[in-house]
Parts: sequence; structure tokens; C-alpha cells
Amino acid sequence: MKVAIVGAGVGGLALAQGLLKAGVEVRVYERDPSPAFRRQGYRIHISPAGEQALAAVLPDRVRRRVIETATRPGDLLAGFDTQLNKQFEQTFPISGPDSVTSIDRYAFRRAMMTGLEEVIAFSKEFIAYDVVGDGVEIRFADGTTEQADVLVAADGAGSRVRAQLLPEFEVHDSGIRCIYGKIPLTEGLSVPPEFLRGFCFLNDGVGVGAAFAPVLFRTPPEEYGDYLMAVMTGTSDQLGRTDDELFTMPAEELWALVGKQVANWNPVVRSLVDAAAASAAFPITLRTCTSVMPWPEGPVVLLGDAIHPMLPSAGAGANTALWDAARLTDALTGGSSLASYQAEMLAHGMAAVTESLENAKRMFDLRLT
Ligand SMILES: Cc1cc2nc3c(=O)[nH]c(=O)nc-3n(C[C@H](O)[C@H](O)[C@H](O)COP(=O)(O)OP(=O)(O)OC[C@H]3O[C@@H](n4cnc5c(N)ncnc54)[C@H](O)[C@@H]3O)c2cc1C
Repeated sequence: MKVAIVGAGVGGLALAQGLLKAGVEVRVYERDPSPAFRRQGYRIHISPAGEQALAAVLPDRVRRRVIETATRPGDLLAGFDTQLNKQFEQTFPISGPDSVTSIDRYAFRRAMMTGLEEVIAFSKEFIAYDVVGDGVEIRFADGTTEQADVLVAADGAGSRVRAQLLPEFEVHDSGIRCIYGKIPLTEGLSVPPEFLRGFCFLNDGVGVGAAFAPVLFRTPPEEYGDYLMAVMTGTSDQLGRTDDELFTMPAEELWALVGKQVANWNPVVRSLVDAAAASAAFPITLRTCTSVMPWPEGPVVLLGDAIHPMLPSAGAGANTALWDAARLTDALTGGSSLASYQAEMLAHGMAAVTESLENAKRMFDLRLT
């Protein structure tokens, strides 16, 4: 059996590792020219379910690499008002010295690519597929085609594979925009101790929020060191700019918007925003589905954001993609069937979508129509 995976993101790479470990012929087609190409986000929380999925699919040496390049474990989730008065706090046990509770996305993807050098093809943008016999022929933007027995859509929330297979699938714009940023942790920078322990969310009570979370590496990548991820959330009205403006303005101007929003917040928060690497700022649109659809039995299968895009408010998108990858590895290597993968994935994915929507309603006063 030959499996073609479209997308070298969190789920696609985990599936590729699992299949390769089981001796299945696998190829990954990624549209970006290299792992470092785009603004891909900074810190991702890894849940115990995500850790278990990684342990199931990764060969030992790749798992070690993931552990070595992960952040030192954090144990806190806390909420504050804009003057840094604590509103709630939840702590989590750290399971042991190898515990992975969060990762830097670039370092993680690099580690997850260990041993996949011959498997991943970059600059391969999927355009469409045709079902041919029992398999598929896949067409790419560069004019080439490839054949496979199974095509896995791991191409994220804007999945083109899903658009062809399930044209009626709806992805909703939540109306919320995020501005992501990075604050290098330099000596002398004043940082509230909670911000170095885990994910801290500050809320102005009328929909604008900001989150801070540490990336303290066990082993940093060559390109950069420890930092605080910072993210501001609000509607484009609340942020005072149209989408056209938000998504075209230079990074420095974008970060200046964050500075404006926090002008009356606690001075420690303002000084953190001032200390950010403004050129690292980028905007994203938060999208979600409201139901997860089954797909017709055949050679095309979906995982991760391609089939259950969700808001980041439960920290579950990447973990659910990893969970899918572990279950799909099982299904494609004879441990279960594609039908049972689909049934389990629909239930598990929908639970995560619902949780993230419920959290978002509380955090952002979200009203989806
Ligand atoms: C800024 C940010 C922060 C987040 N934080 C968290 C968090 O803390 N915890 C959490 O669990 N989740 C988080 N998420 C969500 C999480 O990143 C996603 O749910 C997860 O990456 C989904 O994995 P995936 O493999 O399905 O898709 P992705 O990781 O998005 O990978 C899709 C891949 O497909 C490629 N691709 C797309 N189209 C094509 C094409 N036509 N041809 C070829 N390749 C293509 C893309 O370039 C990409 O590499 C965050 C998301 C963002 C954007």
C-alpha cells in the first residue's frame, strides 16, 4: 500500500512517522518551500492525549528529539484582569522529567521531520485528485501528478482535499482576529512569575483579551532562544482596523495596535508589549466548524483541522490532530478499520470542537450564527 499525505503540519508528520515505523510506503506533499517558510504560530500546548499519541507513533529516536526540543514543562493556567488581579488559577501535575506540555511549533516540526528527509516533498501544492481504479491520482500546482492507494488530507483548516470531497462542509469565521507576537526573554525583563509557569489570559471584560505563555527551551533551536508568546484577541472593530488593513499592514504597525490596546493596562504588561520583537507580529482569523462530517467510503481520508477546524480556546486543535494521526496509523496498518477510524474521529473531534466553542463563548463573548 502507498499512502500520500497532503500537508506536513502537526497531524501529517505524526501520521508519516507512524506509517514509516510500521513499514508502510508513505509520501508527504507540502506546499511550503521549507519547514521555516511561513508564520506558523509560536507555542502549542501538548495535552496528555497529545503526548500519548506521540508516544504511539514516533520511533524512539524521533521521540527523544521531540522531548529534547520541547519546552521545559509548565504547570499553570491562570486568568487575570487587565490590572493583573488574578481571577482564577488551575495547576497541573508534571508527569516526569520527560514530560512534554508545550512545544515551539517550528522546533517541533523540525524534530518531527527527523528521518523523513526522503519522504517529504516541499513546494508541492495539492490542486485536485481523481479517483482511478481503487486508488487516486493527485495533481500538483507544478504540473506533476502522483499515484497512491490512499490520499490523506492533512492540509489544515483551508483544506483543498476536503473542499473537493465534501464541498458542502462549512467553516465559519468566528469574527475574532488574533495578533501573535514574540517577546524575547532578555536579562532584566520584568515578567510576572505566573507568565513563566504556563498559559495566562488577561481579559478586559468587554471582549478584548491578551494571553502570555512561556517558551523556555530544553534545547533551543539555532535561530533563537527563550521567549514569551503573546497574543491579542478581539474583533476587527475592537482592534480598530478592517480585515484589509489588519492583513496587509507591516508587522511593526500591527504590533503598535497591541501597544495601543494595552495603554491603560498594568505597567508590567505594557513594558512586556514594548519589549516584543515587533517584526515577529502576524495576524490570524479564528475559524471553526460547528459539526464534523462523515465522508464517503473510498481512497480519500481526512484528519486534523482539515475535518474539524476549531478555535484555539481549548488548546485542542494540535492535540486532536495528533490523536487522529495515531488512530489512523492503527487503521492503515491493520489494527482497526477506516470505518472505525471515521466513527471514533467524528466523536472525538466533535467533542473538542464543542469544548473550544464553549470556552470561546465565555472568553470572547462569541456569538456564532
Ligand atoms: C497561531 C496558532 C496557535 C495555536 N495554538 C494551539 C495550541 O496551543 N494548542 C493546540 O492544540 N492547537 C493550537 N493551534 C491549532 C493547531 O495549530 C492546529 O489545530 C494544528 O496545527 C492542526 O494540525 P493539522 O496537521 O491538521 O494542520 P496544520 O498543522 O495546519 O498543517 C497543515 C499543513 O498543510 C499544508 N498545506 C495546506 N494546503 C496545502 C496544499 N494545497 N498542498 C500542500 N500542502 C498544503 C500547510 O502548509 C501545513 O503545513 C494553534 C493554531 C494557530 C494558527
